[in-house]
Amino acid sequence: MSDRWTENVKTNLLPLSIEKNDLRKALAEWFYTGNTYDLSYPDENCELCNHQGIRFQFEIQNYLTKSILLIGSECILRFSISAVDDQGKVLDQKETTKKVHKDRRQLISDARTKRVINSLVELAQKDTKFDGIDSSIEYFQERGAFSPKHLLFLLWRMKESGVSFNKSDFKMTIKRNREKDQLLDMKDWEVRKILPAMSASQQKWYHEHS
Ligand SMILES: [Zn+2]
Repeated sequence: MSDRWTENVKTNLLPLSIEKNDLRKALAEWFYTGNTYDLSYPDENCELCNHQGIRFQFEIQNYLTKSILLIGSECILRFSISAVDDQGKVLDQKETTKKVHKDRRQLISDARTKRVINSLVELAQKDTKFDGIDSSIEYFQERGAFSPKHLLFLLWRMKESGVSFNKSDFKMTIKRNREKDQLLDMKDWEVRKILPAMSASQQKWYHEHS
């Protein structure tokens, strides 16, 4: 191990470890705690390799010195830092990789949920006629998506009220027959409005059934 990244890692890691020379031995003192942070914007550096533009921080800790570093998820995998499970059991590389990917997906999904709820709150503030905010939030938190009619209504009201929102955050669900019927009953222009919120398989289903 000797490239630019490794030199940075040595500089950052060895002073906080008991082992002061051998990077491999020093790395073995560290584990991924499972704590993660979303900074909303990529404006931090990885505290292990100095890589710039980290948005999602993953916490590693030295089990001897108790020191903590906030690093990018790639560094956990690149330097084979082990994760631990809920019972404190050390996970192998395969399990660690699975956990890191899962935790990363969770951060992305939590960020989307937060953006959708913020848009709905903004809508309730700007649109005095919109009184369905609590039920909208509840529905979304439960299902992660909206029914076709609900979605059409929200997109329309948000646009009318000048609410900023991320179109791809608003997903549609047609798992229930009632929701499928809603979609099939819609006019073409209505379907076009919610098309960006539809997954590829939902669009395919629609074209086969409409
Ligand atoms: Zn890094």
